[in-house]
Amino acid sequence: MKTKSVIVIGAGIGGITTATHLAKGGLHVTVVEKNSHPGGRCDRFNREGHIFDTGPTLLVIPLLYEAEFHALGTSMHERLGLQRVDPTYHLVFDDGSQLALTSDMKSLKEQLEVIERGSFQGLLRYIQEGDRHYQLAIEKLVNRGFDKASDFFNFQNLALLFRLKPLIHHYSNMSAYFDDPRLKAAFTFQDTYMGLSPFEAPATFSFMPYTELAQGVWYPKGGMYGVVETLTDLAREAGVEFIFNSAVERIEVNSKHAQGVLLADGLQLDADVVLANADLPYVYQNLLPQDGMAKALLRKQFSCSVISFFWGVDKTYEALSPHTLFLADDYRANFESIMRDLDLPANPSLYVHAPARLDSCMSPPGQDTLTAIVPIGHMSENGEQNWDELRDEARQHVFRRLRTLGITDLESHIKFEETYTPLYWHKRYNLVKGSTHGLSHTLTQLAYFRPSNRHPRYHNLYFVGASTHPGTGIPTTMVSGRLVAERILAER
Ligand SMILES: Cc1cc2nc3c(=O)[nH]c(=O)nc-3n(C[C@H](O)[C@H](O)[C@H](O)COP(=O)(O)OP(=O)(O)OC[C@H]3O[C@@H](n4cnc5c(N)ncnc54)[C@H](O)[C@@H]3O)c2cc1C
Repeated sequence: MKTKSVIVIGAGIGGITTATHLAKGGLHVTVVEKNSHPGGRCDRFNREGHIFDTGPTLLVIPLLYEAEFHALGTSMHERLGLQRVDPTYHLVFDDGSQLALTSDMKSLKEQLEVIERGSFQGLLRYIQEGDRHYQLAIEKLVNRGFDKASDFFNFQNLALLFRLKPLIHHYSNMSAYFDDPRLKAAFTFQDTYMGLSPFEAPATFSFMPYTELAQGVWYPKGGMYGVVETLTDLAREAGVEFIFNSAVERIEVNSKHAQGVLLADGLQLDADVVLANADLPYVYQNLLPQDGMAKALLRKQFSCSVISFFWGVDKTYEALSPHTLFLADDYRANFESIMRDLDLPANPSLYVHAPARLDSCMSPPGQDTLTAIVPIGHMSENGEQNWDELRDEARQHVFRRLRTLGITDLESHIKFEETYTPLYWHKRYNLVKGSTHGLSHTLTQLAYFRPSNRHPRYHNLYFVGASTHPGTGIPTTMVSGRLVAERILAER
């Protein structure tokens, strides 16, 4: 029998993962990637000995990684050389107060009680809820597909309405545990990892802060790009072929099937199965015949974007921990500005990453490699945002915030700077609206309500990645890769 051939469009985490499962299942798999190397948003660059992870910087939900590496026939710990980051974050508030989120419960209790008396008991109850949400969400929502309405709308799932609090907003739910707004922020800011505002995110997402405290935040030797290198090695070992610097221009279809892809250089590649890892709304808009779905997708809610600064610095800033978060007092206004007005908040919360604190290889000796990430609205339809101005404003906000930690001279010690705005995210990875996390993860866009992993008309065309089920994040896109591969292999 002829071996089935698969073309994968895009070498992001989801694409590489699916490709590996399919190749291990005996299919002939070719991955076509527009950029020069694999990883997609999970990207890296090295300049003058400074190594920057330009996308993910946090290895969270390690148990999910472990399960997915296991499904690929290997061990995460053996492959990645992981160290636990503890304290995970240093939080700095507008009034100068600080909180180190740590798994050392004695230290955490002391810090919390200074901020709000009795709050540690609140944290313990919140962790219990997070644990319940984690177990249920992974089993009932993440680790399974929703192909038919009955997979989602059934009696068993009805109970989840009460047990997972999907109809309560995460931030409002915090009143059950804390009074102090700093603590409410400290245990909800993780929603931004899904590009969500805690004022819109379901309370289900309390599982994120829970996993950070219970399972830890980790860091691979050499940085997060190590995950991509490992997955690419596994793919090559399984027999996957990669074609880089080659953009797909069109998916060739007849009335019922996808037949292959047309590359920008005119080459046509035929395939029995086409799998799109490029951002799903982009694929409908740009690679397929227009059928109304592209427009419908544009009307959906997209997650926010970020402006990222990458600085090679000629001295070391020990005041900076690996992960420092500056959380603004006007927390609600921050999210409204980003999500509703598609703007830069007047006083943005922001994140600074200093990887050399975890691995000295990330910068030359005596120097520092710093990344600052400022969340901002995604690109608007009318294109009226002035990204140069917004970038300059965001840059000044970072310097202003760093002064609260006594860092006053950073600007004069920057050797070089790279900046990524939403325009860059859009151009480099074909992310619609420059939205860094793709389709938003609000209740009406999750599980059965997320676009299907299989095209409704061309049944041999599948989708994988952040804008598909279960959603954004490295481990979840690995899950999406496995689920899609299982489906393709089952239908062989
Ligand atoms: C700034 C930032 C920070 C993040 N932080 C974290 C974090 O700390 N932890 C975490 O777990 N996750 C994080 N994420 C999310 C995580 O990076 C993504 O969810 C995940 O990498 C998405 O993978 P994907 O499979 O959707 O593929 P993508 O990364 O979208 O890759 C798709 C690939 O398709 C290629 N492509 C597009 N169009 C074409 C075409 N026409 N032809 C050929 N190739 C094409 C693109 O170049 C790209 O390589 C972060 C993301 C960003 C942007």
